[in-house]
This record gives sequence, C-alpha cells and structure tokens, in this order.
Amino acid sequence: MCGVFGIHGHDEAANIAYLGMHALQHRGQESAGLVAAEDGRLRRHVAMSLVSDAFDEKTLSRLPGRVAIGHVRYSTAGSSELRNAQPFVFEYAGGAVSIAHNGNLVNATELRAELEAQGSIFQTSSDTEVIVHLMAKAREADLLGKLMAALKRIRGAYSLVLLTNDEKMIGVRDPNGFRPLCIGRLKDAFVLSSETCSFDLIEAEFIREVAPGEVVVIEKGGMTSHALHDPVARTFCVFEHVYFARPDSLVNGKSVYRARERMGRALADEAPAEADVVIPVPDSGVPAAIGYSKQSGIPFEMGLIRSHYVGRTFIEPQESIRHFGVRLKLSPVRSIVDGKRVVVVDDSLVRGTTSRKIVKMLRNAGAREVHLRISAPPTTHPCFYGIDTPTRSELVAASHTVEEIGRYVTSDSIAYLSHAGMMTAVGSSSDAGGYCSACFTGNYPVALGSTELVQLRLAR
Ligand code: AMP
Repeated sequence: MCGVFGIHGHDEAANIAYLGMHALQHRGQESAGLVAAEDGRLRRHVAMSLVSDAFDEKTLSRLPGRVAIGHVRYSTAGSSELRNAQPFVFEYAGGAVSIAHNGNLVNATELRAELEAQGSIFQTSSDTEVIVHLMAKAREADLLGKLMAALKRIRGAYSLVLLTNDEKMIGVRDPNGFRPLCIGRLKDAFVLSSETCSFDLIEAEFIREVAPGEVVVIEKGGMTSHALHDPVARTFCVFEHVYFARPDSLVNGKSVYRARERMGRALADEAPAEADVVIPVPDSGVPAAIGYSKQSGIPFEMGLIRSHYVGRTFIEPQESIRHFGVRLKLSPVRSIVDGKRVVVVDDSLVRGTTSRKIVKMLRNAGAREVHLRISAPPTTHPCFYGIDTPTRSELVAASHTVEEIGRYVTSDSIAYLSHAGMMTAVGSSSDAGGYCSACFTGNYPVALGSTELVQLRLAR
C-alpha cells in the first residue's frame, strides 16, 4: 500500500511533487519521501510522517531541480522504519538512481537469499531493494538495459517511478498491471502518479495509463515507450475499486466513485432489507451506501460521523490501538438512528472487529434493527500483491460462514455483494476478466513464493 509520484520538466518540481503526494496520502501514511535531481546530483528527504509534516519550505528548498519523484508508504513488506522509507537512492558504476515502488514482490525472499549468497549487503528489509541489487549487478551497459534485466527477474506487483542523476524519469508497470500508474501533462512537464486525483490537484491533464508491462522513459526530448514483456493477461487489483483508491480518481480507466455506487446498487438488488434509513461507514462506505439508497428507495443519512483527526483504523499496527481507534474515529448520530431500522453499508469486512463495534454503537444510540451490508464479497485470502491484509488466520471469512459472521458482529442480518455483482460493477465482462480478486477467491494470478505459501499452508 503505497503511492508514487513523479514530475519532469517543471521549475518547481519538488513543490509540485509535494502536492501530488499529498493527494496520494490515503495510499500510505507511515512515511513520505522526495528525491530531486539537479547538476548531476540526487538530493533526498524522507520522514516517518504524513506528507504535510515531512516537508516545509526549508526542506523543499533543499530539493532544487526540474525533476522530482516522491513516495508515500504503508509497509506491506519490510518493517515500518526510516531505513525502509522511499524513494531509495543508490549509486552504481554508471551514476546514481532513485526508485519508488508501489506493490509487493512475491519472489523477493528467494532473490534476496541468492543475492546475499553472492555477496550483496542489504541496507533495508524492503522487497524493493532487491530491484536495486539486480540492477547494480546487471551486465548491460546502460541504465535502461540494467533496469530491464532486473525487471525480468522479479515477480509480483510493481508500479515503479525511477529518477536518474542525469534527469531521466522512468515509469514501470508490471505485466499484470496490478497497481495503477498514470501519465499526465502539466504544461510542458510530464507527470506520473498512482492516481489521477493528484493530477486534479496540480491541474495536470490526464493523458493515459502506463500500460501493463510498459516502461516509459521521460527525458528532455520527450517520452519513449518500451515493452518489458510479451503481453500477459491483465489482472488489475479489484480492491483498488472496492476500498483503496480515492473516489475522485479514475483507475483502470474507470471512475472509482461510480464503480462503488454500482456495487451499492447491486447489493440492494441482491440483498434487500426492510429498513427506514441507509447509513454508510464513512468514508469508504459512502458511495456504495448512496447506491444502495438510490436503488432501494430507502433514504440515505449520515448516521455515523467520522473524526478527520485520526487515520484509517488499520494504520496503527498494534492491536490495542486499532481496537480503540474505532471509537475514536466513528460516532453515531442519535437523532438519525434512534428508533430506526438501519441498513449500515461498509465496503469490506476483514477481521470483523470494526463492524462488531459499529453494530454495538448503533444499538446504544437507539437503533431498533441493524442490517449490515458489505459492498464486496467475503475477504477470505490475504493479498500478496501490495494491499495490507492480515494473515489468513485473522480473516474472519476464511474460517466462518456468513451466518457465523453475522452472529459475531451481532447484526440482525448480514449480506455481502456476490463476486459476479462486484465484477459487473467494475465493468468486467466475464467473472474475473481483467482483474485480480485473489482476496475474495484465493486464485492468485502470479505464482506465490515460499514465504507466502508457508503462510497460507499454516493457516489451513
Ligand atoms: P475489520 O474490523 O478488520 O473488519 O475492518 C474492516 C474495515 O477496515 C472496513 O471499514 C474497511 O473499510 C477497512 N479496510 C479494509 N481493508 C483495509 C486495509 N487493507 N487497510 C485499511 N483498512 C481496511
């Protein structure tokens, strides 16, 4: 769970990148970093904080140059500490390169062991560093050749933005296209970003996505495109649509908001409820709840209010804080729910702890009935391609039926959107065509590595 950004050919590259990363903040809140290139040098600033706390005028002024790349991070591989904060900068025989990665490699453990056996000394516990070592060792003469050689060895999810000390900016998307990566223009400058919402903020124009398996090289003369791989079946992450991406973004060519609204509409058809009011779990449940309300004719109200001064409940890794976090983050509006039959819509249910607390909270505020509706199928499997999910044993739907989950969260009724309903909502023509929905099915489109398989087997 990360966001990547880059801008090439702008007098205020670092300032613009700062804004672009601010718009990607929802993709990672643990660390933020920026690297800028000027006069053959790469300058870097990273911090374990939100974008707005990581940078001020002074730190930004120390990042001069017309090219800059940035990263916001939530760790899915490697621990949460400063040495793992990206973008990384490394020097090799031909110069210096910086790299920012969104995604997760599934063969990093094997590759790291192989590289260490050959003498590589790793500085971080991040899977991204494997790419760096593979590039440094590659025999190809130029940087693009080295990068291509490294990319041929890695497996999994990677949307990358790289910057060289001679001011080339490179964008890469893995052959499956798991994570988004978009190209935009801001006057003469080229922009790369995980999501189009950052283009809107900096008033850049969205041009197109980096295609799965494509490498784009942006330099003074313009942009060139290179094919990394023969095309493979595209498997864009459906969970970007369900939860992760911002609703005002287009991802995989589609409006996130509209897809979520359609999920809500489909859910109303599949799982109607006799109720007086539809309320969302804000913020991620809002578009689906609007869809449910429109389709069912049951009025929509904001029956839960979210405090904007705490992060997403998952952000704090410790169990104790997350549990407390639900109460910190959400509070019920008694005048909306008192005496009412309430449909509460959330985008996903992972451990079930949030829903259980919400049901209790709504009952304490006077709700007569609480009907839980989830606008995605049961999360039965962990993601190994870059979304932070707990281990399989912690996923309540991995070992419990929907009925049992309903009893656990103590709702009067519970229903999930069907897999087919979700796929139709994101515009997929076949059951899972064009998408990865492994978290709902266990069908992992890219072969997992030993670490991931051990985790799955242990859970079984
Ligand atoms: P849980 O209590 O584990 O069932 O958490 C469910 C809540 O977490 C839902 O409101 C989701 O919107 C949210 N959620 C789902 N997946 C993630 C994730 N990978 N990171 C952070 N929050 C998530």
